[in-house]
Amino acid sequence: MRPYSITKHNGSSDLIITGGTIVTESGVFREDIAIGEGKIHEFSQGLKVRTPHIIDATGLHVFPGLIDSHVHFNEPGRANWEGFETGSRALVAGGGTLFFDMPLNAHPPTVDAASFDEKLAAAQAASLVDFAFWGGLVPGNLDQMEALVERGVVGFKAFMSDSGIADFPRTDDRTLQQGMNRAASLGSIVAVHAESAAITARLAQESLALGRTSIRDYLDSRPIHAELDAIAQALDLAGETRCPLHIVHVSCGAGLALIASAQSMGVDVTCETCPHYLALTEEDMVRLGGVAKCAPPLRPKLAQDGLWQYLQTGQIRTIGSDHSPSTPDMKAGPNFFKIWGGISGIQHTLPLLLTEGHVKRGLALPLISSLVSFNVSARFRLPPAKGRLLPGADADLALVDLNQQFNVHADGLFYRHRHSPYLGRKLTGKVVRTILRGQTVFQDGQIVSKPMGLVIGDRSPIISQPHRCLI
Ligand SMILES: [Zn+2]
Repeated sequence: MRPYSITKHNGSSDLIITGGTIVTESGVFREDIAIGEGKIHEFSQGLKVRTPHIIDATGLHVFPGLIDSHVHFNEPGRANWEGFETGSRALVAGGGTLFFDMPLNAHPPTVDAASFDEKLAAAQAASLVDFAFWGGLVPGNLDQMEALVERGVVGFKAFMSDSGIADFPRTDDRTLQQGMNRAASLGSIVAVHAESAAITARLAQESLALGRTSIRDYLDSRPIHAELDAIAQALDLAGETRCPLHIVHVSCGAGLALIASAQSMGVDVTCETCPHYLALTEEDMVRLGGVAKCAPPLRPKLAQDGLWQYLQTGQIRTIGSDHSPSTPDMKAGPNFFKIWGGISGIQHTLPLLLTEGHVKRGLALPLISSLVSFNVSARFRLPPAKGRLLPGADADLALVDLNQQFNVHADGLFYRHRHSPYLGRKLTGKVVRTILRGQTVFQDGQIVSKPMGLVIGDRSPIISQPHRCLI
């Protein structure tokens, strides 16, 4: 039984989706959907509404549109790496309807009001889908945080290790503490890239001094304990400052154990992982080379198994792609340390979760749906119209054929640069149509819409929760 109360809408419906199986965060239902003026009007079995626009979704699963909370589209400034147009095209091809762009690797990075406004203009001109922006937390920009919150940033991203890009410096310990205090007072959230700068820099220096620049040497320079060290420090600061914390791209089960322990002590912390940590291991990085380079790096199978266990129990709150492309020349070279660290993956988040999670490991469809839609909306306080299949919500939908398998080919990629670590991989669960606010934007392998993305700048009020200090 569907738990939602159905509220009848007075306006007329202009689109009906019939026969589909609806997947929400709480269950799977067989109901028709009536849509009007970009909103979901009602759900019912055997809807009888007069409209010429009917989509027969028989045999298909209807998910809420994916919300990708972690992408790098690199515009303005480095649009030759990706850009809002090609990045959002790839997102809709994977069933996505909303993304949160990171403050790097745009140039200028999004660390003040002026850079936010510049990025907003670029996204409004080119994005096929709705969007929001992360602000940056870097040394020297504490005084800009309030203006960024007023503009509606999702939260603030900080790097605890070198970001790999000169215009977005690492956040030192003092700045991180002050920034978390400021974010807490502004009702915002801080997200951290958690790897220890001291450990990774020392190991990299030692390796390079010996002329050791292979893939294995790179893996050895970013060990799991460097990630755990930084996660522990961030958790301490979250407890001390009472700042909501989100740890991005956790790559190993041991990291989840630390986070779960802090949660049990009342710290307001959540985390994400990425499809590449779930679908690839360090052996794949050695085999594939630069196209699979990322930081933290891919991990051994044991660490990956831990991630899957925590995913099953709901301890991992969200999945973000961390789509971070570059030009092809930056992904190759004899010195693996110098190769750009970022994976192109935004197009395959949902098919990878369906293949590796649902088909191979029995991960429930509502859990998958919540990881990429409802939980993202709830954690980052989006308006209730986003990430939910409810009467009154935006009609943002992904229609997926779970019976269809496909091979990942370069000519099917919508990225500016068609590289992917998943080329040749057979996936189950093909996105056949993506709908944004009632408009079809992607259908049967084709983009069928012009840019129509809107900025999502409103944040729902914070729901305060009991909170105890870690220390
Ligand atoms: Zn990232």
